[in-house]
Amino acid sequence: MRTVYVNGEYLPEDQAKVSVFDRGFLFADGVYEVTSVLGGKLIDFAGHAARLARSLSELGMKAPVDTDTLLEIHRELIARNGIEDGLVYLQVTRGAADRDFLYPDAETPPTLVLFTQAKPGLAEPDRAAKGWSVISIPDRRWGRRDIKTVQLLYPSMGKMMAKAAGADDAWMVEDGAVTEGTSNNAYIVKGDTIITRHLGEEILHGITRAAVLRLAAEAQMKVEERSFTIEEAQGADEAFITSASSFVMPVVEIDGTPIGDGTPGPMAARLREIYLDEARRKAV
Ligand code: PLP
Repeated sequence: MRTVYVNGEYLPEDQAKVSVFDRGFLFADGVYEVTSVLGGKLIDFAGHAARLARSLSELGMKAPVDTDTLLEIHRELIARNGIEDGLVYLQVTRGAADRDFLYPDAETPPTLVLFTQAKPGLAEPDRAAKGWSVISIPDRRWGRRDIKTVQLLYPSMGKMMAKAAGADDAWMVEDGAVTEGTSNNAYIVKGDTIITRHLGEEILHGITRAAVLRLAAEAQMKVEERSFTIEEAQGADEAFITSASSFVMPVVEIDGTPIGDGTPGPMAARLREIYLDEARRKAV
């Protein structure tokens, strides 16, 4: 049985509990992070910790513990659960208080929960060998997608719509332009240029996105941060997504139209390789 962390305690998962009055449960008043683990070590931990601090501050929530303590808790859970390759989920809510739209007193202790998922072979090449097919759906989320809140109902519905259509994921579209995937950032490649939506409140600022764009620039690849349409994506040479759990994943079909020759492209393969190389070297 897994060991999970809840508010200062390491507990068997069937003994871990949060209050029925937790604001995460009642109002989706919480934020989260997902950090991948390769070879027992955390990938891009500093980036995830920095984004967590930003999400908390945008919502006027206190950090439950400092970054060093967070790192210790992550490492302890990896060790206790024997995670070689996998994911660590971290959830912070504004805590438990009698139900009221107004935030509770600032002294209300936040709820902090961490748990692991084992994913043997998470970075193995065969996971990216086929690539994903995606469908497009309207983006019906709230307006502050730059904050990583636990409001994941619409992305969850999007994944179900993709599954019903026999696809792997959905790209969301707003005002004619692709925002992002249900749980990843979206890219296309035209010639030697990588195109991905500019940052703003409309998308999550992916930690993997930041690393991949930095590495692309270092490798002298051209990067354009701008929006693009589904039609432009369907006519692109390549498409791919990035996220902490999928790294760089080729996209080979959009709304039934094959991208390029319908197989994973060389730019996505190269970016996956250089991202994973650096991520493993810098893992903590
Ligand atoms: N966009 C959304 C909506 C996400 O949920 C995620 C990851 O969960 C991402 C992008 C990718 O972000 P990261 O690379 O930090 O995992």
